[in-house]
Amino acid sequence: MNHFKHLPEPFRIRVIEPVKTTSREYREQAILNAGMNPFLLDSEDIFIDLLTDSGTGAITQNMQAAMLRGDEAYSGSRSYHTLAATVKQIFGYQHTIPTHQGRGAEQLYIPVLIRKREREKGGKPDSMVALSNYFFDTTQGHTQINRCVAKNIYCANAFNTDVYEDFKGNFDLAKLEQAIIEIGAENIPYIVSTITCNSAGGQPVSLANLKGAYEIAQKYQIPVVMDSARFAENAYFIQQREAAYADWSIEQITYEAYKYADILAMSAKKDAMVQIGGLLCFKDDSLLDVYTECRTLCVLQEGFPTYGGLEGGAMERLAVGLVDGMRQDWLAYRIQQVQYLVDGLQAVGIYCQQAGGHAAFVDAGKLLPHIPAEQFPAHALACELYKTAGIRAVEIGSLLLGRDPQTGKQHPCPAELLRLTIPRATYTQTHMDFIIEAFQKIKENIHNIKGLEFVYEPPILRHFTARLKEVD
Ligand SMILES: *Cc1c(COP(=O)(O)O)cnc(C)c1O
Repeated sequence: MNHFKHLPEPFRIRVIEPVKTTSREYREQAILNAGMNPFLLDSEDIFIDLLTDSGTGAITQNMQAAMLRGDEAYSGSRSYHTLAATVKQIFGYQHTIPTHQGRGAEQLYIPVLIRKREREKGGKPDSMVALSNYFFDTTQGHTQINRCVAKNIYCANAFNTDVYEDFKGNFDLAKLEQAIIEIGAENIPYIVSTITCNSAGGQPVSLANLKGAYEIAQKYQIPVVMDSARFAENAYFIQQREAAYADWSIEQITYEAYKYADILAMSAKKDAMVQIGGLLCFKDDSLLDVYTECRTLCVLQEGFPTYGGLEGGAMERLAVGLVDGMRQDWLAYRIQQVQYLVDGLQAVGIYCQQAGGHAAFVDAGKLLPHIPAEQFPAHALACELYKTAGIRAVEIGSLLLGRDPQTGKQHPCPAELLRLTIPRATYTQTHMDFIIEAFQKIKENIHNIKGLEFVYEPPILRHFTARLKEVD
C-alpha cells in the first residue's frame, strides 16, 4: 500500500476504553483545582492523554493471551525460561534477569559496576565518571546516588532545533575518546548507549555510531550498557536512514546492534509494549561476576532472579511484546503518526523540534515570547491546551529543570518545550487532526495566555507536585 498518501492504522481495535467529554468551563475549574499542574489532574477528566508513552499504550491480542500461560512458581518458572529464550533469540544475550521496570534494572547494575571499577582498577571512590550519549533521568539519578558523575557526550546539533540530521542521538566519538583519556579509563565504570536518545527528543543513534562507541570502549576496557527502551524504533530509523542497512529486517538490525554492548538494560514499558516490566541481560560470560552480583542484589531489591518483580503472566506477556514490538508495519505507522503530527503543527505555524520516535516537541518559547522563562511558557501552554481541548501534555523546560541546589537560582534552560507523547496504537489519525486543530485555536488566543508563578514549590522534583497560579 505504498502508493497511498497515509498508512491507516494497520490493526483492528477490538477493546475500547470510554472517555469523558467535558466543557471548557469544567476544564478551567479542574485545572484550577489541580493547582495549574496537569500532573495533578485526574485521568478521568482527560480526553487525550499525552503525558507519556510509558506503559500507556495498547497491547496485542497475543500479549493478552500469553498472560494466561503464566507459571507462577517462585523459582525456576517456565515463564522465566520462555522470556530468557526470547531474549537470546532477539538480542543474542545469554543471561537474563527480569525486573519490575527500567529503573529496577538500573538499581542492580549501576552500583555493581561502580563498586567493581573502584575495587579492580584502583580508581578512588568519589572520582568515578560514567559516560553516555545522553543519560535518561533515572539512569542519571542512579549513577549520582552511587557517587558517580554522569557526563553526556552528544553530537553538536543534538539540541539545535534549526538543523535536521538523521542521527541526532549519536555520540560525538572524538569527544568520547578524549573524555576517556582525560578522566582515565580506571575511573569510568560504564558507558551507556541510550537508544533512542530520549532526552534529545527520541532521536536515533546509527549502527555505525554504536559500533564506533563500542570499539572505543573495548580499547579502554570499559563495559557498555545499551539502555534499550526504544530499541525497535531505533532499528526502524537505522533501516530507513542508514544506507548500509536499508535491506535489513528490524530483527536483523536489532541483533546486529546488540553486538556493540555488553549489558542490556531495558524499560519494557516503551517498545516492548507492556504496562509494567524491565530487563537486565548479559551478552556472555565476560561479565559473569557482575551478572552474579546483580542476581544476588536482585533477590533483595526486585525478587528472586527468575521473576525479578514480575508475575509469571507478565513475563509471558513481555516475551511476546518484545517480538510484536518489532513489527515493520506497526513501527512504520507509529513513526509516520508522529511525523504527521509534527508536519500538521508546523503547517499551522506551531514550531516543533525535528520529529523523533515517540513524541512531538512544541517550541513554546518561540510560540509565547511574551512569557519569560521564569514564568514557564511551556507549562502555561500545557494548561491552555488542557483548557482548550482536554489534552494533557508535559512541560520539558525550566519547571522540570529546577534550581541550582547551591545558589537557589533557576538553572538556565536551553529550550522551553511542550512534549506531546504518543502512546502506541491508542489514538488514531483523527485524534492527531484534533490536536492540530486545538493548537490552531490556541494560536488565535495566544496573547491572552498568562505566565505562571508558584503557590507551592517542592524542594526537589518540583514539577510533579508543584501548585501554581496565573501571573496578573
Ligand atoms: C523509561 C526509560 C528508563 C526508565 O525506565 P522505567 O521503566 O520508567 O523505570 C530508562 N532509560 C530510558 C532510555 C527510558 O526511556
